[in-house]
Amino acid sequence: MFLLAPDYHRLLKESGVGDYPLVTAEQVHGRVIAVLIEAMASPIPGVDGLITRTRGLTLGITVADCAPVWIVARDGSAGALVHSGKKGTELGIVPQAIRQLLEVANLAPSDLRLVIGPCIRPPCYEVDFAARIRKQAYESGIRDIHDSQICTACHPERYYSYRREQGLTGRMLATLTLLP
Ligand SMILES: [Zn+2]
Repeated sequence: MFLLAPDYHRLLKESGVGDYPLVTAEQVHGRVIAVLIEAMASPIPGVDGLITRTRGLTLGITVADCAPVWIVARDGSAGALVHSGKKGTELGIVPQAIRQLLEVANLAPSDLRLVIGPCIRPPCYEVDFAARIRKQAYESGIRDIHDSQICTACHPERYYSYRREQGLTGRMLATLTLLP
């Protein structure tokens, strides 16, 4: 799911996952990922990605131009949600998340689906980090790769954009819940 700031809790509720604890990451544009067994106090300091195999827990990542990336087992048994902007993509947070997810969940790359959400893209931004994320996913062995192809800066009526609004903007919340 992909939600707008003032409405996080109402929208989570309307989506049927409002009763599950929401765990978020501090997001420091790094490549550290936390593996969650259960709900814990958040935002979790120093991390930009979250992995879980626990059902009934909602992972949340906030974004304004950086990409939210969902990496999920197609059988719904495990998933990762990652914040990958220009810097995080350069640091390889997505390949890192894929490696950790495969290890934690004992899966093969062919078990995974990867989805890139709305983020800033050329020509609105000089770096095509979404393309780099697709390449990283492919090089990690994933073939089930979906890119929303949506540019946040091109759709002011629908998305916040840090760059377009020169920093004075809200944040969208990307979420991932493994349903019980
Ligand atoms: Zn654009």
